[in-house]
Amino acid sequence: MSKNIAIIGAGFLGLTVALRCAQRGDTVTVFESGAEIGGLASAWKIGDVVWDKHYHVTLLSDAYTRKIVEDIGLADEFEWVETKTGFYTEGKLYSMSNTLEFLKFPPLDIISKLRLGGTIFYASRVKDWKVLEKISVEKWLTKLSGKSTFEKMWRPLLKAKLGDAYKKTSAAFIWATIQRMYAARNSGLKKEMFGYVRGGYARVLENLAKKLTDLGVSIKLESKIDRIEPADNNKVNVINSGVYSIFDAVVLTCPSSVAADLVPAFTPKERQTLSGVKYQGIVCASVLTKTPISDYYVTNITDETPFTGVIEMSALVDKKEFGGNHLIYLPKYVEPDDAMFELSDDEIEKRFLAGLEKMYPSFKRDAVVDFRVSKVRQVFPLPVLNYSSSVPSIKTSVPNVFVVNSAHILNGTLNVNETVALAERFVIEHKI
Ligand SMILES: Cc1cc2nc3c(=O)[nH]c(=O)nc-3n(C[C@H](O)[C@H](O)[C@H](O)COP(=O)(O)OP(=O)(O)OC[C@H]3O[C@@H](n4cnc5c(N)ncnc54)[C@H](O)[C@@H]3O)c2cc1C
Repeated sequence: MSKNIAIIGAGFLGLTVALRCAQRGDTVTVFESGAEIGGLASAWKIGDVVWDKHYHVTLLSDAYTRKIVEDIGLADEFEWVETKTGFYTEGKLYSMSNTLEFLKFPPLDIISKLRLGGTIFYASRVKDWKVLEKISVEKWLTKLSGKSTFEKMWRPLLKAKLGDAYKKTSAAFIWATIQRMYAARNSGLKKEMFGYVRGGYARVLENLAKKLTDLGVSIKLESKIDRIEPADNNKVNVINSGVYSIFDAVVLTCPSSVAADLVPAFTPKERQTLSGVKYQGIVCASVLTKTPISDYYVTNITDETPFTGVIEMSALVDKKEFGGNHLIYLPKYVEPDDAMFELSDDEIEKRFLAGLEKMYPSFKRDAVVDFRVSKVRQVFPLPVLNYSSSVPSIKTSVPNVFVVNSAHILNGTLNVNETVALAERFVIEHKI
């Protein structure tokens, strides 16, 4: 029997659930607090260019992302590119795109390199990730790679994504990261092929929205849900600016702590588990420039810089997409209460451009066409020790209210592929 379903959040999770439910004949309404769909994968305008607010790449091995892109008619619009990786350490930029370059890499001696290579190979072979949840990432990597390699390489790289929270993080985090990179290299071509859809996520989302609208899905933008309450006969009320709408089932895809506040009928224990999920945030700048800074898609940084990595999108994406300009992302991953969130965009611009000038002597500020800053306090849950034993249940104590979000990605990193896979599993397993 077809149902009337509300989905809270128009990110990839909510939109995929909406698509599958609508395809099987349900009536679906998606409520999104933002002015556009896409959530973390949404697009914005920088200069005259419309491109992803946060850098996004698809791997050849991302079967779920590729399937949904195929379902919306864009399978032939992928561009696949072999990319290069840079490494900035002790004030110098090195290429680290193949084994030979790794072997030549001066900051590590040959023994450290062998141990580092061995660690990555070993991690790629580990199957039981649950064992790794019990040990801290610092202990595990130090044991495998040695103290000096941990200090010189691993700690800066962990800090780049986790800040000081790396101290609370389990080895499952680095395992999941290495597994994803190995999947990229082992998908047929044995090369690190990265892909994007021509037109970026703006185009993917436009096609997805059209497909949903054709299926009768109603997408309500600028509709921040304030409360969700149980109603008679196991139905559920969704309350938006004092207006009640009644549904057979409600699926919340917002961060767990937001979900905890939205449903007063949750038990205290449930609310505590939901609010207990600790998130990592990000301040991510997009810089549109007239000139390139390198030919590396990703540059990992081990030195102290205002940002924790450099992603030069135009080393992957045809610069025709950027009107002949170059697009660079400067992410800084921070905890949700970090002082960075209080800084003005102008101050962030000043600090980040000074950082670029220091790293790349050829970079000139007058080459900058536009600079924009995105700040998100809750991007992904920190995989703390024994994380999987404290994950909130998707099915809640309130009949027909479900909470499903990135907290339920247990053995992977946050990416669209894992998000879509989670949505597909949710629709099948929970028979909402
Ligand atoms: C910097 C960065 C880089 C990334 N790089 C990649 C990459 O290279 N490749 C890749 O595949 N993935 C990448 N990702 C991950 C990808 O963006 C996510 O996996 C995906 O977008 C998560 O979708 P989601 O629906 O789970 O969450 P979200 O996108 O966060 O969606 C949740 C939605 O809920 C809405 N919401 C919250 N509260 C309410 C409320 N009360 N009422 C109504 N709506 C509400 C929010 O506005 C939001 O739109 C990256 C992410 C970031 C931030």
